[in-house]
Order: sequence, then C-alpha cells, then structure tokens
Amino acid sequence: MNAAIKEIFESIQGEGILIGTKQVFVRFANCNLNCNYCDTDFSNENCMELNEEELFDKIKKFNSESVALTGGEPLLSSDFIRSFLLKYKKYLNKEFLLETNGTMYEKLSEVIDLIDIVSMDIKLKSATCEENLFDINDKFLNLAKGKVFIKVVFNSDIQDSEIEQVSSLALKYSSPLVLQPVSPIDTSIPFIEIYDKFYSKYSDVRLIPQIHPFLKVR
Ligand code: SF4
Repeated sequence: MNAAIKEIFESIQGEGILIGTKQVFVRFANCNLNCNYCDTDFSNENCMELNEEELFDKIKKFNSESVALTGGEPLLSSDFIRSFLLKYKKYLNKEFLLETNGTMYEKLSEVIDLIDIVSMDIKLKSATCEENLFDINDKFLNLAKGKVFIKVVFNSDIQDSEIEQVSSLALKYSSPLVLQPVSPIDTSIPFIEIYDKFYSKYSDVRLIPQIHPFLKVR
C-alpha cells in the first residue's frame, strides 16, 4: 500500500499541548476542507508515494520520541496509517500524535487504537468560512475521548454561540482546550476577553499562539 506524503522532517512542535517538544512530522497530502486561513500546500502534486517500509526507513533515522501525523487531513490515508502502525510501531518506540480537522470520525475509528494522542481541531465558521460541524465533531470526540485535546483557531469574528458549543463539547468529553489566534497574529483581537468567555464555561483552557513564526522553523 502507498500513501501520498508531502514531506517528512524533524522540528519543534509549534502548536497545542505538545508545544516546544521535538517531533518527526509526516505531512500527508490532500484535505477534505478548504479553510479560509489555510497556509498549507496539501495538494498531491510534488509529493512522495511511499509504502509502509519506505516510511519506516525515513522515520527511524530521527531520534525524536514522538511522530506527528499531519496534513492536509491524514485520516484520508487511514488505511495506510493503520497498515503502517500495525507493521512498524513496535519497532520505532515512538509516541504517535494524530493532527486532524476532526471531521472524519469513520476513518478515525479505523486507527484510534493505534494512536497515542489526538490533536483535534474544531473548525469555526467565523474563521474558516466553512460551515460549523459541531454534531460531527461530537461523534469524533466520542471516539477519541481520553486521548484527545481540542484546538480552536479563532479571530475577532468568533461568535458567542461558537464559544458555547465548543465549551460544551470540551466539558462533555473532559478534553483540554487550546485557543490559537489565527496566524499571522492580529494584535487587535481581544485575546483575554475571548479567553475569559471560554474560561467562564470551561476551565481547562489554554491560550497558545503558534510559535513557528518566532522560532523561524517549519
Ligand atoms: S483542515 Fe487544515 S489543511 Fe485542511 S484546509 Fe483546513 S487548515 Fe488547511
């Protein structure tokens, strides 16, 4: 089995709960969404077609203790991910983080037993210009509970109704919640006011901007 992979590299995690830790990043091609703020080239042009053994050979050269499966949307390659992890996870002795847009819950069910931690975005209409998908996010969280933290990219257009929906999902599944201002950061966003609105509904919430731009790393 092959997967379309844009790039494999080692860097410092720039987002979420694992921010600042060294990881290997495996960036899969293709995505099922089209977020307004997307800065990722996820097209399947100029990518590698790798089989499981070839991916194993590339990952094992790095000494990071953790691997981020990212994209695009890596769950579009769930068959490959399952096959790869079944064959090679035990030889790598690394933790596997899945970075996902939180929409493909059927695909998640195929791999969740092999994944150690899930970074799940809840995509807000106010930031993505796509529809809110809270019912689908709910199904996704139900499968990922116990292994998942939620990440929300927001801007100054965030709606109180979105804060309500996200907070109630985080509370329902006891999931840590990371608020990430859209990059590049607009300093006119009322960060603390927005943070406090979330905090009044759910206290396990962190305000963490992306650190890649400051570190000048990918
Ligand atoms: S889900 Fe991620 S990769 Fe896909 S369009 Fe949105 S920001 Fe880009």
